[in-house]
Amino acid sequence: MTIAKTLEKLSNACGVSGREDEVRDLMKKLLKPYVDEVGEDKLGNVIGIKKGKKNAPKVMLATHMDEIGLLVKTISKEGFLQFAKIGGIDDRVLLAQKVKVYTEKGPLHGIIGSKPPHIQKEEERKKIVTCDQLFIDIGAKSQEEAKKMGVKIGDPISFDIKFAKVGKDIVIGKAFDNRIGCAVMIEAMKQLNKTKCTVYAVGTVQEEVGLRGAATAAFGIHPDVGIAIDVTIAGGVPGVKEVEAPIKMRKGPSITVADRGLIAHPKVLRLLIDAAEENKIPYQLETGLAGSTDAARISLTREGIPSGVISIPTRYIHSPTALLSIKDAENSVSLTVAAIQKIPRYF
Ligand SMILES: [Zn+2]
Repeated sequence: MTIAKTLEKLSNACGVSGREDEVRDLMKKLLKPYVDEVGEDKLGNVIGIKKGKKNAPKVMLATHMDEIGLLVKTISKEGFLQFAKIGGIDDRVLLAQKVKVYTEKGPLHGIIGSKPPHIQKEEERKKIVTCDQLFIDIGAKSQEEAKKMGVKIGDPISFDIKFAKVGKDIVIGKAFDNRIGCAVMIEAMKQLNKTKCTVYAVGTVQEEVGLRGAATAAFGIHPDVGIAIDVTIAGGVPGVKEVEAPIKMRKGPSITVADRGLIAHPKVLRLLIDAAEENKIPYQLETGLAGSTDAARISLTREGIPSGVISIPTRYIHSPTALLSIKDAENSVSLTVAAIQKIPRYF
């Protein structure tokens, strides 16, 4: 399966933080052919293990499986759903989105309702509609009917966006943060055949709400090195200044020097840069990002774990749809594989 095909499957699956069931099952299935064993821990992280030599370093790769989304908060008497946000979502991108509500009885289609421009007053048009004013219309005529359709308080809601290819190299779709990381990790496990290290390929849960899954997975695995594979903001689009987002799409994976939660361990940073340069893999260095990744949590586990981050430049993250270059993802796979192969010489 090509990386685009793997991404398509993962992107179309639902996995709002804490309700990762669908994407978790898929991750297990996709990882299975390329690892010696695959299971999950008590919090729900998927852990695939590729066994190496005894006493060789243990490396943990972490890609979060969860996505930003919504949860049903209340069901109005008239059958409309009010919701709570899960993860960092800008209210301005919610209006008029098509969504799927995942109920016990199966998914329901819905739209986030908006007032047509015809009946908006001049001042209304200028204002941002905040999420507490919004509601989801599933076509139910009453609270009773919504309940009959299967809706319960707390049901997860995801954006209803179908994966699409644009030309040869560009893809658009839902939850690329971080299904592209998951796809890169799966492909790296497929390509990785000679290594002394034991590799733990981990699909983590609840990253978007505070790097939670990485905490329990790293504690359980107790690796010698941690590498998170995630997305980063790709600039180079209208209205975004160079200094705000210097990383670009089509320029190769980004290697984090520092972000809000992590200063990459110097040895891991050296390892990643050397792996890229020796194998002529294009890369970009990144500092000062306001966000963070699972590597931040891994690095503070137990007595401390040297950690770093490989990121795939992605446009429009934390909105319903994102866009990225498959070539950047392929280079991220090459970098991951090359780095793992070099680990025994560095740790
Ligand atoms: Zn992410």
